[in-house]
Amino acid sequence: MKRKHSFGFTLVALLLLPALSGCFGSSNIVNDLLDNPGIPGGLTLACLDSSQYTKLVIEIDYETDYKPEASSTDMLIERIEQVCDKPNGVEIDFNPTTFGHGDTWTAQDVRDKGWANKDSEPRDSSVLTWQIIFPSGTYSDDSVLGVAVDASTIAIFGDSVDDAAGFFGRPSAEEVENSVTIHEVGHLLGLVNLVYTSPADHEDSEHKGHSNNEDSVMYWAIESRSVGSFISGDLPTEFDQDDLNDLSGLADGSISITDQLWQP
Ligand SMILES: [Zn+2]
Repeated sequence: MKRKHSFGFTLVALLLLPALSGCFGSSNIVNDLLDNPGIPGGLTLACLDSSQYTKLVIEIDYETDYKPEASSTDMLIERIEQVCDKPNGVEIDFNPTTFGHGDTWTAQDVRDKGWANKDSEPRDSSVLTWQIIFPSGTYSDDSVLGVAVDASTIAIFGDSVDDAAGFFGRPSAEEVENSVTIHEVGHLLGLVNLVYTSPADHEDSEHKGHSNNEDSVMYWAIESRSVGSFISGDLPTEFDQDDLNDLSGLADGSISITDQLWQP
């Protein structure tokens, strides 16, 4: 069964090769720009603004038994619609995926396997696509629950999410997954201070790129396995007012932004 599966995978890869080399192999300015993976926050304006990208697709590539809870993806759509202007909608595209990877993931592994499995370019005509992979295995630092590795690619490690659940199920693995999912997408939105400097003093001084407010989903402990011991009570799942103010300031141009792959 396993052998048959890998044969199928090889065959698909071979069939895709000519198309891939056409897409990625040639070197001209347009391709180089489209191929630039950017940094987390590099497609913030492409999400906030609707003049080019009118629709956002979240591609979810999950390994068997690692499909995220419906509560995570439903909540994700709500949070994105709250801040990004997407008149043609925000959609989830679920793809069962076999990554064929070992037990341990580095950021580069996430980039390589993520890009090898993307269904489309992050920017394609009027559609912006962000990708979240849910693989088996853990990050090289297994206290990390999720990572955003470039402008369009995230990994969330379900085994570590399960381990982060508290005793007696508070928080539950589902609640941890809800928060980590929103948190990592918050990084693709540039939070906190990844591609701008906030007028508000809400970046944690010891955890760059994160909020110092434990009521924000961007709080630094959210992506850590010990999250249950840092937060008593319910985990945050929402951007706080400072986060929202940053995003609206970026959207209306009152806060300047760097490292964008696309600007209106
Ligand atoms: Zn984070």
